[in-house]
Amino acid sequence: MYQSFKSHLEKELADIKQAGLFKNERIIVSPQDALIRLADGKEVLNFCANNYLGLSNSQQLKDAAKQALDTHGFGMSSVRFICGTQDLHKKLEASIAHFFGTEDSILYAACFDANGGVFEPLLTEEDAIISDSLNHASIIDGVRLSKAQRYRYANADMEDLENQLKKAQAQRFKLIVTDGVFSMDGNVAPLDKIYELAGKYDAMIMVDESHSAGVVGKTGHGVTERYNLKGKIEIITGTLGKAFGGAIGGFTTGKKEIIDLLRQRSRPYLFSNSIPPVVAAAGIKMFEMMDSTNDLQNKLHTNTEYFVKRMIDAGFDIKPTESAICAVMLYDAKLSQDMAASLLEEGIYVTGFYFPVVPKEQARIRVQISAAHEKEHLDKCIAAFIKTGKELNVLK
Ligand SMILES: *Cc1c(COP(=O)(O)O)cnc(C)c1O
Repeated sequence: MYQSFKSHLEKELADIKQAGLFKNERIIVSPQDALIRLADGKEVLNFCANNYLGLSNSQQLKDAAKQALDTHGFGMSSVRFICGTQDLHKKLEASIAHFFGTEDSILYAACFDANGGVFEPLLTEEDAIISDSLNHASIIDGVRLSKAQRYRYANADMEDLENQLKKAQAQRFKLIVTDGVFSMDGNVAPLDKIYELAGKYDAMIMVDESHSAGVVGKTGHGVTERYNLKGKIEIITGTLGKAFGGAIGGFTTGKKEIIDLLRQRSRPYLFSNSIPPVVAAAGIKMFEMMDSTNDLQNKLHTNTEYFVKRMIDAGFDIKPTESAICAVMLYDAKLSQDMAASLLEEGIYVTGFYFPVVPKEQARIRVQISAAHEKEHLDKCIAAFIKTGKELNVLK
């Protein structure tokens, strides 16, 4: 049996390679940080991690994790409702709710699980989910697992959202779902307008703050801060795997009754292990840091503004961004790969994206800025872009 399946898989893999879509993983042998060391010994500046606040290698978080290892052990060996809940898990859930100004929170192993487990328990075939076309894969999968009627609107297109809301009027409950920041462009969902339309058409809202929490808004509290809607959105999901330390873990936070029902019925919560104590303890510490100072958010905002302005001044075509994601548009797929390779030679680690990750003829290099970057890192990155941009005729 396996012989024919093996041939089938070999052909699939060959097809992926043939199409130029085979993903190779680069091996890092240092901690995740602004400056990383690769397996071949090369040291490069990292501009492609979701390490927005530079906390992946934070001494304070490492100390909190080490301490929890001694006080609370290594693993939980259980789901939450059997014997997998420590004081740390409850405290972290309270910290998340405090940060977002919501009523309660529920932890998952990852935001992929939070999104996978949020729709099916809450909505039935009588209900409607109206989803942005560029929403994250985990939202798409989560929506598929529910029986609700599905409607899709073009990315951040409020006219289209209104049309879909009109179509969905016959359904009992309606939920609009959007990413806070769209990861390939760096644009922020127009939550003020979404909120208005939700009011007009009697819908609820869910925002996935994975790329926006810690980043967007004056103090980095996400899109609900940016649009002055703290506490007004029914459901927020997010990750501890990006700005918030970058280890692992996801959450859903929002209205109390929603969280209460998810604890009873959400399958990735009920049937998957609790996050390790070290991750919970570091998360609590991280939210304490968020409460005590905005230094990291301020540094991230300063870094991003500086980088984007200098890149535009240099003549690069940059997608309008309100996040720490800066898409350098190159349009041509091969060029995006060649330029990323040349940048690596210059000691700058970035990734080029092309179809099907982004639309055809929309290839780009995505740069992700971090509070861990110093001005000299940014300057080195900009200089490398200018040098390779000239060599590859991107800049005149
Ligand atoms: C990264 C991301 C996720 C997945 O988060 P994990 O915690 O790594 O599973 C979900 N949604 C969005 C919008 C993301 O960007």
